[in-house]
Amino acid sequence: MKSLINRPEAVVEEMVQGLVGLHPGLRRLPGLTVIVRADAAEGRDRRVALVSGGGSGHEPAHAGYVGPGMLSAAVLGEVFTSPSPDAILGAIRASAGRLGALLIVKNYTGDRLNFGLAAEMARSEGIPVEVVVVADDVALPGSEETAGPRGLAGSVLVHKVAGASAEAGATLAEVAAEARAAAGSVATMGVALSACTVPAAGVPGFVLGPDEVELGLGIHGEPGVRKAPFEPADALVDRLLGPILARFAARPGRVALLVNGLGGTTAMELAIVARRALASLAERGIVVERAYAGTFLSALEMAGVSLSVLELDDARLARLDAPTAAPAWPNAAPRSRPEPGPGPPGPAEAPAPPAPSPPQTEAGRALGAAIARAADALIAEGPRLNAMDQLVGDGDIGISLARGAGAVLGALPGLPLDDPAASLQALGAILQRSLGGTSGPLYAMALFRSAARLRDAPNDRAGAFRAACAGIGDLGGAGPGDRTMLDALIPASESFAAAMDAGQTPAEALLGSVAAAESGARATAAMSPRKGRSSYLGDRALGHPDPGAEAVAVWLRAAAGIRRPG
Ligand code: ADP
Ligand code: MG
Repeated sequence: MKSLINRPEAVVEEMVQGLVGLHPGLRRLPGLTVIVRADAAEGRDRRVALVSGGGSGHEPAHAGYVGPGMLSAAVLGEVFTSPSPDAILGAIRASAGRLGALLIVKNYTGDRLNFGLAAEMARSEGIPVEVVVVADDVALPGSEETAGPRGLAGSVLVHKVAGASAEAGATLAEVAAEARAAAGSVATMGVALSACTVPAAGVPGFVLGPDEVELGLGIHGEPGVRKAPFEPADALVDRLLGPILARFAARPGRVALLVNGLGGTTAMELAIVARRALASLAERGIVVERAYAGTFLSALEMAGVSLSVLELDDARLARLDAPTAAPAWPNAAPRSRPEPGPGPPGPAEAPAPPAPSPPQTEAGRALGAAIARAADALIAEGPRLNAMDQLVGDGDIGISLARGAGAVLGALPGLPLDDPAASLQALGAILQRSLGGTSGPLYAMALFRSAARLRDAPNDRAGAFRAACAGIGDLGGAGPGDRTMLDALIPASESFAAAMDAGQTPAEALLGSVAAAESGARATAAMSPRKGRSSYLGDRALGHPDPGAEAVAVWLRAAAGIRRPG
């Protein structure tokens, strides 16, 4: 596919540079892909800060909603990849003061984990933080058993309501309550006519025939809930409105309608869709107080549309109508730009890394070599892991893991390899910043927990492995059989512990654990996904192994010194 980019790995950085050039009311935080209001620093102690964000590829979300009356800051991850807790924390620090910050998070495992970890880090610095999760998708049967309904274009309406509330001087608790109530009153469903192509992957996330659409689409290039026959616009609109209205316990009386193009849909089509949606709602006796049509939250160049319906009362309608200078909100009052002043304070300078010193012990050299082999293998196998993730997720896990592996290789000469606990701690910090997605915070947590175990008991390698698995379970809420990386890690950890108990050397025990991880990863092909992005696919994932579990087998095999079976 042709697109107007320079290098796939630079799209987010170059977009950020363009956005701040276009919009004088926006600033970026130095060194981070974070966009903040130009007046963030002065406003810190006058209003609650509103921070949102997520993967890029959803433009104009989220940077386009930064401005007086809407978001204080938007955190931009790589394309369809959740941003790191570090970047989110930077956004909170730059925009929030003693009144605190509200984080508005779309319901994706990666975003919940990364924003959740950042909220925890900010609270430990004394900044009050509340988190509101938007889960407006009605295409998926919501259940405790899965990651739950996704956050879709309804989040933009939640940003508007919460932003007006914060601008009006409400307290953190009040802004959070209004945002939560709005999130609970909005329902969204979409239909995709074509897929989209993540620049770094280079191929579309799924393929649709000329007579097919995906109903209940996701906004990350993942397939929808089911394929359906292509029909005229009016029929497709009816297919969306049915489930949307069914979400409301009682038929809503007054609503706002949001017709959202997914990136590759013409304004003509959006108007045709709006025409039918307005007529259908009117036929049902529902008063549409405000209707918006445009591209609010896209999925790169995906063709298709989503409809969102937000229930209204006078107070919420006033929030929608309140003026905002955010560049992407339609019908905004004439913009009064804040005087360009000094930018907001950047994040503190990172401490200079310690001078590299090569490991002195045999064990230190062996650890360094194992880390390098694991990282090399993840980079080499990235394309294969992406292809696996395309079948059941969003096709980025190989890109993310290769990015993390590259950061690890870069930092390897500076790692304190003679001190395994300190090395694992440092690896966790590196991955927390570089890896992203769902895997990033989970791997970081695993490394932090195993480092803590080794600090307490330097020889308890089996305990450290177990602590890593437990940390992933605690943060992500998954257990054995949920079809995640844990289905490779837990068997590997158990096999490792049994072999160590039986008197094997750590190297021998590691070899045995590779086989356990490989068969654990294979077994995920028969498991129904209940956590993470794959849970949206339900049984459509059956028959394909989980890419996160396969990735565990890849790096463990390499760390143990086994070449890839040919
Ligand atoms: P994303 O879905 O954010 O793109 P990645 O591509 O980084 O995430 O990673 C996907 C992998 O993460 C899955 O294949 C699965 O192994 C793992 N995963 C997802 N959710 C969880 C969870 N709650 N606990 C443990 N592992 C998970
Ligand atoms: Mg993924």
